Amino acid sequence: HKKAVFILHDQLNLESWPQWVQDEKPVLIFVESEAYLRSLPFHKKKLIYLLSSLRHFALECPEAGFPVYYHPTEENIGSGLNELLKANKQLQLTYMTPSEWSTREELRDLKKEFKDRVNETSNTFFLADAEAYKDRVKDGWLMEYFYREMRQQTGYLMDGDKPEGGEWNYDEQNREKLPKDHPVPEIAETETGDITDEVIALVEEEYEDHFGKSEGFSYAVTRRQALYRLNEFIDQRLDEFGPYEDAMAHGRHELFHSQLSLYLNNGLILPKEACDKAEKAYQEGKARLNSVEGFIRQIIGWREYVKVYYEAMMPEVREANHFDFKNALPELYWSGETKMNCLQQCVEPVINEGYSHHIPRLMVLSNFSNLTETDPRELNRWFYLAYVDAWEWVVLPNVLGMSTFADGGVLASKPYVSSGNYINKMSDYCKHCDYKISKKTGEDACPFNYLYWNFIDKQRDTFANNQRSSFMVNMLDKKSEEDKEKIFSSSQKFLESLERE
Ligand code: FAD
Ligand code: SF4
Repeated sequence: HKKAVFILHDQLNLESWPQWVQDEKPVLIFVESEAYLRSLPFHKKKLIYLLSSLRHFALECPEAGFPVYYHPTEENIGSGLNELLKANKQLQLTYMTPSEWSTREELRDLKKEFKDRVNETSNTFFLADAEAYKDRVKDGWLMEYFYREMRQQTGYLMDGDKPEGGEWNYDEQNREKLPKDHPVPEIAETETGDITDEVIALVEEEYEDHFGKSEGFSYAVTRRQALYRLNEFIDQRLDEFGPYEDAMAHGRHELFHSQLSLYLNNGLILPKEACDKAEKAYQEGKARLNSVEGFIRQIIGWREYVKVYYEAMMPEVREANHFDFKNALPELYWSGETKMNCLQQCVEPVINEGYSHHIPRLMVLSNFSNLTETDPRELNRWFYLAYVDAWEWVVLPNVLGMSTFADGGVLASKPYVSSGNYINKMSDYCKHCDYKISKKTGEDACPFNYLYWNFIDKQRDTFANNQRSSFMVNMLDKKSEEDKEKIFSSSQKFLESLERE
């Protein structure tokens, strides 16, 4: 028998594989599946990133002493492996549980077909044991309590059994607007080499109709390059990550965010490495506590929590649509063309780079989708195909759980909706906008302002039933009949004229 290990495109780190893989040096099998790449019109930069990092990794493995078999196929991943198992009767294959459901099902079918020749080993790319937390998360267990357990389990920022500094969470200090002319360090660009150039040409030719731009690809594609970026973030941006975490600024998309999600999500960087370095920067006095705690919480808290949620809620949650919205996604998510400056500013980096940080995703793009009563599954599909860091296990909980309330309140206590005030408070977008943030209704009023009250009115049951949001319904009811009439007519006019797909 010939032992082989299948390395999936988001498992690119041998340190996370069981020890026997290191010791026995089995053949490593890679499958480049065209069917997977075409399963959605994924952003061109996502395809370039996925293919280039996979090819680079496969080329590095022989240097570490592993024989490699690289298998390009038009079929899906399961069928690609099926072909190999049929052609090589001696092959004994181990795969690691895929993080994404569809691939997981393909490989489990393979396991059924080739019972004694295919083994599954559990996924070790995450820090939390999903089985241990699944039931509680399904019952609405809050992220904050999960996070505290993860702090204790990992020991990050712990002073004995107490949190460093006395608090578990310093978010109160993390809501500042970026002051005018505040310097923001540039993120270094990684130069492309031959392999990436070849992949760019392939994507431009074969995947021309996919979303987004391929020009200017400058993400890291190897572990060494990704570690360089991690170090750069720790040295130059981590200290101010906390205070400006929720800020947005015209023309400056990353601010102090790490832009590491794409590397964490395919294994080039491990979550533990990122947290170890952040904690060390705090211990050495190079980064403040509220920044380091905030960063570590995003990784051992949110990132792990959404994975557990995915395991707990799949596959039924894919169809979740609490408000039963039926509208297609507004056209501007594809074109970026709109007079609303905040939306233009938040879609542009997605078209160009397949990236935006958390607040544009949540408080602008999801907020607007909710207020325009868009089918959350359409929004989920868009987030899945449009972002370089998107994988179903992380997109779906963030969209159907966190930002749209499609799951009816398992993950979040209320839908993420706000008027223009929030956007104006956290950014300078409104200064550059054709609409007037100060106006509540009428042609030139900020659409977020009236759509927000319109939404509260239509979904009043959901808001009234929740302690944290029932005051909004009361506020709406206190408005004069005339004001309410203006809100509803402005909203209706706007919604009727909004171009959809
Ligand atoms: P930073 O702000 O620097 O945060 C550090 C790291 O924490 C990130 O790299 C990421 O790994 C992790 N993280 C932070 N927040 C979350 C979260 N809510 N869920 C999971 N991990 C988190 N993240 C993805 O990785 N892929 C997605 O497809 C994705 N889709 C999202 C869709 C919506 C609607 C929302 C609201 C959030 C989504 N997120 C997604 C979470 C978050 O917005 C991104 O992880 C983050 O913006 C990535 O940029 P960064 O690396 O600069 O993050
Ligand atoms: Fe966005 Fe309204 Fe501000 Fe314009 S005025 S940028 S639409 S929040």
